[in-house]
Amino acid sequence: MKIIIASGNKGKIKEFQVLLPNDEVIPFKEVTGDIEIIEDGNSFKENAIIKAKTIYEKIKDNKNILVISDDSGISVPEINNEPNIYSARYAGVNAADKQNNAKLIQKLKEKNIKKTSAFYTACIAIIYQNEIYTVHGWMYGNVIDKEIGEGGFGYDPMFIPNGFDKTLGELDNNIKKNFSHRSNALKLAKKILNLL
Ligand code: IMP
Repeated sequence: MKIIIASGNKGKIKEFQVLLPNDEVIPFKEVTGDIEIIEDGNSFKENAIIKAKTIYEKIKDNKNILVISDDSGISVPEINNEPNIYSARYAGVNAADKQNNAKLIQKLKEKNIKKTSAFYTACIAIIYQNEIYTVHGWMYGNVIDKEIGEGGFGYDPMFIPNGFDKTLGELDNNIKKNFSHRSNALKLAKKILNLL
């Protein structure tokens, strides 16, 4: 199946392509060109729908096109669940991963937290023939007050998944795909895709 992914995040696009090996996963920019998506929802679900709808509206004349989006982020209960839906722009609009990580490290250090529980959430929205479907997935673990490792993307170098003693920056990417928030959401999404 031809799936247009409503994301410009290279890390996410790569993960979707690995997780959907039998489908043609195409970044939206290759189809629509660069489009600004204004994520002004109040939840992962609202933002996932906004992203998918924005792209779907541009290409819906092609009846067989399916659009998939992901809105995701990390939440740290000890600091009021920050950064949550603001994960991509924690240090400001267009902030780089390094800057967002630096802000989270600073927040943890302000509270003298070296390690505390955290979780990732992913909401995946699918739009096909004007119908919208959404599913969620989670991954639990701890964040630490420093970055270790170069693997993954975003907050991965600060996140130690439950059952491991290394960050996702250190662990092989093949390990993350077994239990990540995105994989867990996609397992449910695949059930929907199989019915379409
Ligand atoms: P979005 O692209 O607007 O959904 O923003 C997602 C942001 O959440 C990313 O920029 C990352 O900072 C963070 N994030 C989401 N999923 C992951 C992940 O699997 N690893 C690391 N960071 C992630």
